[in-house]
Formats: sequence, structure tokens, C-alpha cells
Amino acid sequence: MTDLKYVTTTCPYCGTGCSFNLVVRDGKTVGVTPFTRSPVNEGKLCPKGMYAHEFVNSPDRLTTPLIKKDGKFVQASWDEATDYIAQKMKTFKPSEIACLSSARTSNEDNYALMKLARGVFKTTHIDHCARLCHSSTVAGLATSFGSGAMTNSILDIEKSKCLFILGSNTFEQHPLIGRRVTMAKKNGAKIIYADPRFTPTGKQADLYMQFRSGSDVAILNGLMQLIIKNGWENKDFIANRTKEYEAMKAVVMKDTYSPENVEKISGIPAAQLKQAAEWIGTSGATAILYSMGITQHTVGVDNVHSVANIQMLCGNLGRPGTGVNALRGQNNVQGACDMGALPVSFTAYQKVTDPAAHKKFEDAWGFPDGICEPKNGYEVTVMMDVLTDKPGELKALYIMGENPMLSDPDLTHVKHALEAVEFMVVQDIFLTETAELADVVLPATCYAERDGTQTSTERRVQKWRKAQDPPGEAKLDWEIIAMVAAKMGYAAQFPWKTSEDVFNEMRMLTPSYRGMTYERLDKPEALHWPCPEETHPGTPILHGAKFSHPDGLGIFFPCEWKAPAEVPDAEYPFILTTGRCLWHWHTGTMTRRSGSLDHEVPTGWIEINTEDAADLGIADGEMIKAMTRRGEVVVGARVTPDIMKGVMFMPFHFVECAANMLTNNALDPVCKIPEFKACAVKVEKIQEA
Ligand code: SF4
Repeated sequence: MTDLKYVTTTCPYCGTGCSFNLVVRDGKTVGVTPFTRSPVNEGKLCPKGMYAHEFVNSPDRLTTPLIKKDGKFVQASWDEATDYIAQKMKTFKPSEIACLSSARTSNEDNYALMKLARGVFKTTHIDHCARLCHSSTVAGLATSFGSGAMTNSILDIEKSKCLFILGSNTFEQHPLIGRRVTMAKKNGAKIIYADPRFTPTGKQADLYMQFRSGSDVAILNGLMQLIIKNGWENKDFIANRTKEYEAMKAVVMKDTYSPENVEKISGIPAAQLKQAAEWIGTSGATAILYSMGITQHTVGVDNVHSVANIQMLCGNLGRPGTGVNALRGQNNVQGACDMGALPVSFTAYQKVTDPAAHKKFEDAWGFPDGICEPKNGYEVTVMMDVLTDKPGELKALYIMGENPMLSDPDLTHVKHALEAVEFMVVQDIFLTETAELADVVLPATCYAERDGTQTSTERRVQKWRKAQDPPGEAKLDWEIIAMVAAKMGYAAQFPWKTSEDVFNEMRMLTPSYRGMTYERLDKPEALHWPCPEETHPGTPILHGAKFSHPDGLGIFFPCEWKAPAEVPDAEYPFILTTGRCLWHWHTGTMTRRSGSLDHEVPTGWIEINTEDAADLGIADGEMIKAMTRRGEVVVGARVTPDIMKGVMFMPFHFVECAANMLTNNALDPVCKIPEFKACAVKVEKIQEA
């Protein structure tokens, strides 16, 4: 007789945090059905969620540890593999080891790797892919508001009177947040959309402003100038809730940011800018939604500060329908940051350099020989530079669930960096492009095979629930970490038997999670942090009465517009920007192994404006060569009027035409995020032999 069960869990793809039921037949996950009690998605799903079961039992799953011998992977036992790792790791100094954690894995896994790095390896170098997507949000909002997270909730979006969507293709990248935008529109909200591409999100807008990638600060300063000139600023909010207003005002009122000059910088007609300023300034409840179009620039932190500035200027914070809503990309990018998988902080942004925080973790963990030094480590982008530019400074890399060989900018540089590593361990569910370069590969479980928690973009902490057993000998990431720690002599510090044990240890050290228990998180609505006590209801909207800075005030940061690090010139005359598509996820490890999703979009492309394509003699569908100063790829052209003239776009999911062969690893000086959204590119027809 068939054994059928339905297990409610949370989607492993984007940061929206939709729930669904996994259908399990005879012990194997075979489908997805709606879970209507989730307030986030109310039973609705996007295609990625609908087919989230398809990669789980892929024949490509890793099932045993692998050790590279004479350039080839050979199967090994767990005992042999973890023994080997421990013996090798003991030969390196703490400063020679770096760890990459993962926004795809659970909070428990990220906490465990943070503890392994700081407690066992005693290194300060730990980071993860939030560096590449929202490190400018964390740095920018933490300095503006005192907390680096989305201020309002997803449900709150429909209460907005005006939604300004900037640098976020919400309908494709966060489709179930896009649904809330539609609901707001039905309630009468005006939708303003600014993006170089007329995406499906643009098609929902009342006002679409097409602009040149890299001109965000000029646009936001221009909007603020118009708001102030028209007297639409919220004087009470500025006086009572903020500081440094005059310094910010002095910058935005410059002639550089007049509508006419902003038009010259950005390409947005002055009349459109004026309309947008009026709707933003007078709606009474404007929410901004942004994503990586804002963050992935060498001025990413300035961009985020500018978004915070305009919302403080209008008093659009701390109330329903308002807020700075940074839409985080991956399922658990918020949680991985919260768990301290960052080079500067323990959990909940408790600074490593703060003596009290350092002592708190050292005392709680009880490592007899102490923990890492109280200093900041390297960001992932800096790790890559150190590996290529300072040979011998970093020697060992421990990677959990990340694939920098496809996700990071300038892949030739990344390959050189990873090849310079003396010893590399990768924990993953598939043999990724990065795992292929490792010395040891350890098979991990996916979301369907384990209990755990993840924290969505709106700070909602939700549960994964085990639906099936893992394949072969695959283990939970935190279990693997505990095994490695035990082999290095620290079994007593990793005593956990269940994911709940890990969570309970973490929450006692993490003020914003302290009031959460697995039992409380079991209800469909789960809990938003901060949730400091077990009787606390959670906090869907931040900054209600005061900001999170010690004095309770928000801080205006004046920002001047600066051009991207690389701008078009005679040799490379176009701007290249990159991103994702509806059907695939990041480096495609999961979605390209999902038959339904891969069938829809089997390979990558480059979008070229219709007039540019005509000038270049390029036809729709033609294979062409795209080149930057860092590399070249052969890719099919998608000719469309929906992208701005002079701008080209590539999705980065596809190894056979990897967009990141072309991207620029120039970094924001504050948060070290790379400039994925703007570099100079040229394209050529492929000459027949
Ligand atoms: Fe999953 Fe995001 Fe789609 Fe929801 S919107 S089903 S969380 S990918």
C-alpha cells in the first residue's frame, strides 16, 4: 500500500519565505501542494516553489564524502574524510584559514559554522554571499537607522498608498511580494518603477522611469530636491526623529540635482521625476521596495543611505504602508547575517571587536584555549584578492553551500584565487563548479531532509520540516561541522543532538531571537525578530517610536552622485548589467536540475536594445560574442525594446555563458560589495570560418 504524507515546510529559493506542503510518497518527495494557512503566500506559489521538489532526488546528489587523490575524487568514509580535514586544518595558523558560510542553509548551520570558524579554527575570516547581494543594505541601514534589515513586513505592502520600486524586478525575483504590490494597486496605490529594463514589474507601474544603470544617487537626490522645494517634506518627523538633516539638504539642493541635470545623468525625463516626487512626497504612506539594483554598486552604501534619506525626509518610516523594504535575495540571507556569518560580528550584529560581546561568546562557548582574536576578518571579495595578490597569506578555505566559481565577479580572477588555496573543503548537495576544485567534498542534506529554521527578507523566522531521509550518507551541515570539530578535539563544545538544540544555544546568545522557540515557530505565521522574550509577539514593523540607534534618532547621510567604476568608452561602448530570471535560481545548482524549470529556460542570453542591435547588425536569437576587459562569452542575443538603449543585460545562472566572466570586481569601499550592475561591454557578431 502506498504511504502518502504531506509535510509543511518553507521554500528554499527566494527571501519571500512562502510555505508549501511537500508530498511524500513511500519515503520520497514527489510533489508540492499549496499550504493555504501561510499568511505570506496564502497557498500561492511562483514556478520555483511549484517545482521545489524536483531537484531533491536528482541522481546528481552527493552521497558520500570525496577526497581528491592524484587529481581525482575517490569515495571516503566520514571517519576518513573528517580525520583528514582535522589533520590538515591543524597545520594552519588561524589567520591562514577562511570560511564561507551560506545563505541557502539554515540558521542552525550558519551558527554552527560561525562557531567552528571563531571557536575551533580561531579565525576571524568568515563571510558569505550576502557580501555580494545586500552587504550595502546591512552597512547602510545600520548606520542610518541602527538596524540593517527590511523595516516593514510583506503583508504591510498592501497598506501603502504609493510604492516606489527601485532596482528590484519584484514580479520575477520575489513573485509573491509582487502579488502584494498588485493588491496595493487594487487598493488605489500609485506604483512608480525605476529600472533600466521594462520588466514585468514595470508593466504594472503607473509611472515607469527608465534610467542608466549607476545613476541612483542622482535620481534620489533629485527627488529630494523637488520634495523640499515643494514643501512636501515631513518637518515634524525631521525635527523629532532624525539628525544631520541640514548637511543632507545642502547636498541635495545643489544645481547638480535639478530635474534637468538629473535627466542628463540618468536619462529620466524631468517631467517624470517631478511626477514621482509629488506622489512620493504627498501620498501619506509611501513604501520603497529595492533590491540588488540599488546594492550591487561601488556606491551601494551611498545608494542605501539615499533611500533611507528620502524616507526619513517624508516621515515614511515606522508606520503601516511605509518603510525601506530591502528585498533580500536568497531564502536565508537575512538569517545568515543574523547568525554572525560575517567578518565583523557574532549573532545579531554583536561586534567581534566589542570586548563585552567577545567575552560573552568566549565564556558561553567554553573553548579551553579561547576563541578568535577580537578583530574583524576579511570579506569574501577581499579573500579572493588576498589569495591572488598576497600568496601564502590565506592557505585554507572551508566552504559550506556556496559556489563562488559562478556567483562571484570576474570568474577568471576567482579561479586563480581558488587554485591558489592550499587546502579546500566544500560541503554541498551537488558537485558544484567550486566543489570540483576542492580537496575534500562532504555531502550535505537539502531543505526537504531536515528540520531547521530560516529567516526571510521580512525578518520572519520560519521552519523547515523533514519530509524524507537524505540520500546515501549525506548529513546535516551542522552535524558535519560538529564531526569536524570533534576530530579537532572540541566535541564538548558541539554537544547538539537535534537542530532544536543548536537553535536553543543560539537564541540564548542572540537578543533578537531569544524569545523564539521551535514550539512558537510552529504556527503558520511564525515570528518576526526582534522577539526578545518568550511572551513577546515579534515585531513586524521596525522603528515605530524610535530608531535603533542609542539616542533613538535616524541619521541623514549626505551622498554625492559618483559614476560607476567602469563607464562605457570607445572600445567598450555599452553598459552591462546582470541579474536573475523567474525560472532559475542563482548558480542554477538546484533549478537547472529541475526538469520543469530548465525546460522553460534552458540557457542564458544577452538582452540588447532593438536600435542598438540594428546598428550592430545583430538579429534576435543570433549567437554573438560579449566581451569586457576581464573576459568573453558566446551567448544568444535577445533583441528587445524593453531595455534602455546603450544598456545590455545578462542573467548569471548559466555556466555555459557565465555573465560573471564579464563583471567587474571593483568594490564599494565601505561594505566591499562588487559592482555587478554596471561595467563596460562590447558585443560582436561571430565571424564564420
Ligand atoms: Fe519560493 Fe520565492 Fe517563489 Fe515564494 S516567491 S515560491 S519563496 S521562490
